[in-house]
Amino acid sequence: MSTLTATATCTAHAATVEKTGEVVAQPLLAQRVAWLTGLARDITARIVAARWSVADLDALVSGRGLDGRVLPSKGWMAVRRLGWGVGPRPGVYVCDRVLRCAQEQAARALRLALHRRVMVSAIVASWPRDPGARTDTEWAALRAVLPGGVSAAEIRNRTRQIRAYLDAHEVFPADLTELEDPPKVATQVVLAAADRQLLTLERTGERGALLRVRLPLVEFPASARDWAWHVLPLALPPTVAPEAKLCAPTVRVSKGRVRVDLPFQIPITVAPATGHTVGCGFDWGLNTLLTGTVGELAEGRETSDGRVIGDGRPLAYDARGISAKLHRLRAERQHLTAKHRHQERLLAQITPADPRFARLAAACQRIGVEHERLCARIRHLNKALAWSASRWAVDQAVFAGATVIYLEDLATLEARGRRGRANARLSGQVRGQIVEAIRHLAAKHAVAVVTVPARGTSRCCPRCGQGTSVLTHCPAPDRLTEKGWTWAYCPACGLSCDRDRAAAERIVSRGLLGQNATRTHRSTGARTIVTVVEGNVARARRPRKPTRAARRARRTRTDLHPRPAARDRSKNRPTPKRPTRTPNNLTNTSAGRSANNPADQAMTSSRVPDRRTVPVPPPASGGQRPAGHAPKPGRHQPYRTGHVRNSHHRTGFHHAKATPVLTLTEHRDSPKQTTPVRVA
Ligand SMILES: [Zn+2]
Repeated sequence: MSTLTATATCTAHAATVEKTGEVVAQPLLAQRVAWLTGLARDITARIVAARWSVADLDALVSGRGLDGRVLPSKGWMAVRRLGWGVGPRPGVYVCDRVLRCAQEQAARALRLALHRRVMVSAIVASWPRDPGARTDTEWAALRAVLPGGVSAAEIRNRTRQIRAYLDAHEVFPADLTELEDPPKVATQVVLAAADRQLLTLERTGERGALLRVRLPLVEFPASARDWAWHVLPLALPPTVAPEAKLCAPTVRVSKGRVRVDLPFQIPITVAPATGHTVGCGFDWGLNTLLTGTVGELAEGRETSDGRVIGDGRPLAYDARGISAKLHRLRAERQHLTAKHRHQERLLAQITPADPRFARLAAACQRIGVEHERLCARIRHLNKALAWSASRWAVDQAVFAGATVIYLEDLATLEARGRRGRANARLSGQVRGQIVEAIRHLAAKHAVAVVTVPARGTSRCCPRCGQGTSVLTHCPAPDRLTEKGWTWAYCPACGLSCDRDRAAAERIVSRGLLGQNATRTHRSTGARTIVTVVEGNVARARRPRKPTRAARRARRTRTDLHPRPAARDRSKNRPTPKRPTRTPNNLTNTSAGRSANNPADQAMTSSRVPDRRTVPVPPPASGGQRPAGHAPKPGRHQPYRTGHVRNSHHRTGFHHAKATPVLTLTEHRDSPKQTTPVRVA
């Protein structure tokens, strides 16, 4: 057994002062919390700014305090051992626990900076000839000096940053402290560093918790009398299981509301690294976001030659609508950035006395706000997409009876330069988020997540040649002689299938056959297979019950898919446009309708969707699932093989299509997969 930590964000709507019983409404509570976060932030910012130097970061790296002892892992204790503590401003009283919280946050900011520092020095040490496109050897050199688990998006962003510095100064930055200013300190209080003298937290039931915290009554408290215990009732979201253990939260104020980021721990069963017989492989699609397939190891059977038998059913999460949206938003963001920079340049050229200054400054600020909002929109959409796709992938694996999910290693994926023109739409950041989310969600179901080498997954045939027969890629199955991307064709065995599906089959076979070489990262626990073991994937369809329409067609000896009898005469021209609702024809058309009908009065543009395109969290156990469409095995059995209620899995997005999650029929002769059991 192990524990899984997740964070639920709750809102405190009101509080009670413990001593007097006075009810504190949300605005006043938010103000008091803001005073507390302000006090802590001031101290944190002063510590970080004072220690933003090569010597001090070196001291933190050395891991030894002033007395020569090893620094403790607790951040605030490390700061004190190093003698970096800073007191509050003169005349302000804060208790020692608030100082601890501030020091903890400073230590976390500085320790995060150490990670960036290692990255910067590694990238500078292995600076490529062309920073825009590293060659394979340059990637290998960089990966050799980088710590494990650094995503490609991080590397790209840091490379860009160093390149900008190089352009401006014509010399490499000597250290991170030269490259960037001290990190900005978030306005929040990390209560994890405090104890019962600053906060207590207890659960009041399945859906509630009580947070007691000492808050200042004035902005600059002069003595202990200016602090009082407040009791904040919290409503826990349904994602927090009743048996979850609550930990000390981080408190912040966002948009006038007191937000409590509450970490909680749930016990989980650790999935074994080896011994898997059924696995699910997913490929980072070119055509789709994720393409998957289920494979079973054929060992211990008569045909035991290290083969993998694939499920005939391709799984696809097609998010090209959202990818296109993200692409548009990113283009818009680029445009706004350019505009903002231009305005800043113009502003720098004129003095505040200039009559144009005020107008230009206002415009510049407006663009800045818009840019920030756009960035937030992209961030939220990325996150929603990543979680929706991950939920889908894990559901597919669990319901197919798979005990392991195989993914391509993002590091090797980047190195082989597959991110070409066709693949640029999906940012590497979303992929990183998806890997993280799949790891988190799979852990809840005791499903292992293992990355396999990405090299050559879409190059060779999954059905023949043990990874030696090369596929030809063409635009479509009926254009096998042309050059293209989306379709794969094997001249040796005649396999003709979607490119990503072939790659997913290769991935699942690499994973299942090479599972004895699985390595677990010591600190992150991430599992990878680095050795490539090639094998062929045979395809076997599951027995499928014919649909009612098919049975009727067979009984009555009729065609299941009859062609339309006659040509539809009305469709020999383009569909006419609807009349636009200009004020003139608005009055004309509404004249004939009932004036009392509110639907007629409240006319909105038909182009504006009335529903939001973000996932709605359903109140279901076992994790958050978008759009409230949790598959329910065993209750009404709505998901039977060959009986699909919805043509697509509900993803929470209007423009994403995904293969529905089905409870499948018996997985050949392995009885344990007959009824997939959800591990809550
Ligand atoms: Zn082949």
